[in-house]
Amino acid sequence: MNEHLTKLLAATVMLGSTAMASAQNDVDARYTAYPSYDGADLELSVDPAGTRFALWSPEAESVRVFLYDTDRNSQPTDTLNMVKTNDGVWRAEVNRQLYGKFYTFSIRYGGQWLAETPGVWAKAVGTNGERAAIIDFSTTNPTGWADDHGPVVEHFTDVILYEMHHRDFSIDPSSGIVHKGKFLALTEHHTTNPTGEATGIDHLKELGITHVHILPSYDYNSVDEANMQLNQYNWGYDPLNYNAPEGSYSTDPADPAVRVRQMKEMVKALHDAGIGVVMDVVYNHTAQKDDSNFSLTAPGYYYRHRADGSYSDASGCGNETASDRQQMRNFIINSVKYWATEYHIDGFRFDLMAIHDTETMSQVAAALKEINPSIFVYGEGWTAGDSPLPVERRALKENVSQMTGIAVFSDDLRDAVKGHYSNAAGRGFATGAEGNEETVRIGIVAATAHPQVDYSLGNNSRFPYAASPEMIVNYVSCHDDMCLTDKLAASMPGSTEAQRQRAARLAQTIVFTSQGTPFMFAGEELFRDKKGVHNTYKSPDSVNGIDWNLKHINAEQFNYYVELIRLRRTHPAFRMTTAEDIARNIVFDKVSQPNLISYSIKNNANGDEWREIKLVFNGSDEACQVKIAKGEWIVIARDGTICATGLDTCKGGMMTVEPVSALILARVK
Ligand code: CA
Repeated sequence: MNEHLTKLLAATVMLGSTAMASAQNDVDARYTAYPSYDGADLELSVDPAGTRFALWSPEAESVRVFLYDTDRNSQPTDTLNMVKTNDGVWRAEVNRQLYGKFYTFSIRYGGQWLAETPGVWAKAVGTNGERAAIIDFSTTNPTGWADDHGPVVEHFTDVILYEMHHRDFSIDPSSGIVHKGKFLALTEHHTTNPTGEATGIDHLKELGITHVHILPSYDYNSVDEANMQLNQYNWGYDPLNYNAPEGSYSTDPADPAVRVRQMKEMVKALHDAGIGVVMDVVYNHTAQKDDSNFSLTAPGYYYRHRADGSYSDASGCGNETASDRQQMRNFIINSVKYWATEYHIDGFRFDLMAIHDTETMSQVAAALKEINPSIFVYGEGWTAGDSPLPVERRALKENVSQMTGIAVFSDDLRDAVKGHYSNAAGRGFATGAEGNEETVRIGIVAATAHPQVDYSLGNNSRFPYAASPEMIVNYVSCHDDMCLTDKLAASMPGSTEAQRQRAARLAQTIVFTSQGTPFMFAGEELFRDKKGVHNTYKSPDSVNGIDWNLKHINAEQFNYYVELIRLRRTHPAFRMTTAEDIARNIVFDKVSQPNLISYSIKNNANGDEWREIKLVFNGSDEACQVKIAKGEWIVIARDGTICATGLDTCKGGMMTVEPVSALILARVK
């Protein structure tokens, strides 16, 4: 041992709690006896007195810390033996600040020394996340960071989500962006495509969305950060180090501080533009199993198992984590709190959220609300496979009303409007298929109870599962499955591009005028496609990259989205905050034709200046006639065109709704 190093038994009184989680089955029963530890000092803390290591590993027989000068390919310069303290935590301490060094842990378990691991709490890592790094976080803050904050959100129905991937957004040469595929791409202003239209962050401002929802940006496993010239693409749903940024999105994966600083610069630039930042988080499984950082620090504990001891697999990726076990719950909660405080993150999208239990999710939302009440937490209210976690405890869409402060994606509107995701050729309401009307209406009222909506006729859900519109995220397309452009092409053989663009406009008009929070997939405002590939998680940039020339080619499509978003942002009637308001203010008209929905938002809903808004959606390929009450109406949308402040005026009476289009009218008195 290096003479400069000392190891000390920390005498600090530590917070502890008994594991509260109940066992999934006999195999897991032993883990309930584990002590848990909820302190913020796990794994590394540095202060003027020195550098402290603390690893939670209740069943380890011995634990070591290895210190290194480089992020990989070198021998340790020192080894520290850790001492077991209380609550399953092992500790070692050095009486100086080891900034610039790297470290790993290794535990002896079952008589064997396991492979080295950066631990589960590495906040900075080197290339490919192999070793954790000791850096001074105060040096990673951009200028003005102390005063930085995201948009203040009063109600989550005010949020407009734009889902993007770093490479999709900036990698194509047509983006005109310098730092293509990097965090820094979102810091570049005044970038344009070859015809001079704005790209990048300026484009987002022009579009008018409130929050970007960025695909995984924590350190994931699949892209080789040591070989960036390979231009590998991956969505990043293969978590490695949950508490450090992904290296391939930085300009130097080998320098641990660079990715931290550049991610913060991205957040700061978006905040300065008035845009919030949502992180896509994947605590439900890890890229590896026996070799994961969880397994190498506390073997078995963080995962659920089947009765035979094998990993259960509700994620469809080979394993699932155990949020119902206290230390995993602590991990998830402390991890999101860390991102919210250190990186000023404004929201979290939980992948396969129903693998987590409802209690954990409510605690996540409560903990984040204490940090910043504007933080939005939502997720996929389903799993990808069966789980030992009982159905009633899963954070399912159907259980959303049992949680506090959590929203879920509505697959109801998604599948009903464009056709089922699993059947490429299947059509929906906006593409002429009958029988989806009631499910679209479920989406319009954000899955809340409404006297005119018959849930027994719903395609996906059979009861009003949302107690509030703030629990629902509505969408027709996301990174998963065929994007909207490709779905329309697959389901409308023989159609023209103009017809498909028209269907896209109708589909998104339904999303953006519905109650709940709207969500869109990046580039759909340009009518981007993904070459018909339905699962592009590792497809090349040629498939995933947005061609910014489309902003010129499809300028009318883009302008439609701009006006649609402006309509929503300027009219609170589309953003009601309670189920009671929706039930009172939304009145559906009786219509006899299939593929037609007509309704009003009445009573100056939610303080709107408009007394009544009339919305008629015609998903059929034939024009239809509707009777509109006589009055002084402003025409907002008609025949595939829209203007938030009005295209025209009319007096009501019998009006034509053109095929595959929305008619939106508004009146002040
Ligand atoms: Ca990585």
